[in-house]
Amino acid sequence: MAKADLHLHTDFSDGLHSPRQVVQSASKSGVQIIAVTDHDTMEGALRAKEYSLRRPDLNIQVIVGEEVSTLNGHVIGLFLTRFVPPRLSAKRTVDLIHQQSGVAILAHPFHLYTGKNSGHPNAVEIIDQIAFDGIETINHGDALSSWSNKKTDKIIKKQRLASIGCSDAHNSRFIGMGYTEFDGTNTEDLRAAILSRRTKPHYNRSWKINDILVHLRDSSSVLNRYRKVLSTTS
Ligand SMILES: [Zn+2]
Ligand SMILES: [Zn+2]
Repeated sequence: MAKADLHLHTDFSDGLHSPRQVVQSASKSGVQIIAVTDHDTMEGALRAKEYSLRRPDLNIQVIVGEEVSTLNGHVIGLFLTRFVPPRLSAKRTVDLIHQQSGVAILAHPFHLYTGKNSGHPNAVEIIDQIAFDGIETINHGDALSSWSNKKTDKIIKKQRLASIGCSDAHNSRFIGMGYTEFDGTNTEDLRAAILSRRTKPHYNRSWKINDILVHLRDSSSVLNRYRKVLSTTS
């Protein structure tokens, strides 16, 4: 069995740490695989993958991913080779992910912020019409997340989807707080486990007071920096 954290961020979007720092922290977190899934960019993921290949001693395999801002909320694409543009429907986004043999995961459908645009349904409401491979049943991105994760549990009982656990870490100290366990050792085994719905989501530990303080401090500094990144790129 191996452990993978399939949703986390670098400073190429609203994360705090560089792709290199993320890979270094991951190597001490207890997971063997990470997917770097920055908002609407693959750049940080590509750099993290490149670094992991130069540092086999760190024992971290990197999957190139993207957290795509769709009209119906955030969708995670894994095993990507081409950029998936934001602001399309979730259905179209999942098709674009599948066209490049990627894997599509519905992210945090019941969190306070799903990323959906007003006037459009939450992807979870139209889930029967979208060919998702998996759904994030554990997103451990904040102290309240276990409450919204419970609602996702009910969906997974009805849908035949892979059940995925992730940290959604924006600070690399939180990598591995949520993770996905699967039978195998490498990223291709993981892909097969997702496609055959044989993954298991887990919590590594729950949020402590100190984590919450760190998270609050990070949020304000990261938001300020990320606004600057967005204003120079758009
Ligand atoms: Zn998100
Ligand atoms: Zn995220």
